[in-house]
Amino acid sequence: MADVVLSVLAHPDDAEFLCAGTLARLSREHGWQVHIASMTPGDCGSVEHGPDEIACLRRQEGANAAAVIGAAYHCLEERDLLIFYHERPLERLTRLLRTLRPRIVLTHSPADYMLDHEMTSTLVRAAAFGAPIPNFFAAQGHPPAIPHIPHLYYCDPIEGKDALGRLVEPAFRIDVSAVVEIKAAMLAAHASQRNWLLKHHGMDHYVQSMRDWCAERGRQAGVAFAEGFRQHLGHSYPQDNLLGQFLGIR
Ligand SMILES: [Zn+2]
Repeated sequence: MADVVLSVLAHPDDAEFLCAGTLARLSREHGWQVHIASMTPGDCGSVEHGPDEIACLRRQEGANAAAVIGAAYHCLEERDLLIFYHERPLERLTRLLRTLRPRIVLTHSPADYMLDHEMTSTLVRAAAFGAPIPNFFAAQGHPPAIPHIPHLYYCDPIEGKDALGRLVEPAFRIDVSAVVEIKAAMLAAHASQRNWLLKHHGMDHYVQSMRDWCAERGRQAGVAFAEGFRQHLGHSYPQDNLLGQFLGIR
């Protein structure tokens, strides 16, 4: 059975900004099975479509982006700006972990620019801790508890800073120079978002902003393009850097 990596981020295009290069490398170089999950279908990500219409579009865009690297896309079906730390999303995430049984899980930085990202980070941390505990959601008909907590990593916050503007330094960087075009192709699959970001944030160059950020992380690492990560190293979480062992760290 192939090893499994799962990214769980808030919105359908977050993986393509933050960790798709790393996912692509695990798939291409080591044959890992990749799963990309978003907490919401991005239902607020439009000024021209209603919530159901844009959600429908963005689930398809998420699936299209994942398909570029042969990955599967999953939506946890929470709603934009309404991701909370409570039982429903925690139960859904725990079920997903027990179903996919990933060795590595990637999620948002605990401190990020908006609360959907921070709540997702907290939920994923909790689900990773709870999924190996058999009595956790024992009555929900889940697959068996996973054998141990997976290796958990936090992606860079957006623009590498927290909500107070403080820089968040990665613990290590993964060289994604060889797969940056694949990452760009995945991001470009989110066609609805370029228009939305242009109108809401005044940000054009949807794909270019990703390239610029990876180039910035790359400069710090002495390579063309990189992605930054920190590993969750609290008590009982795995302590060895499995991601680094497979892909090398900079
Ligand atoms: Zn997001």
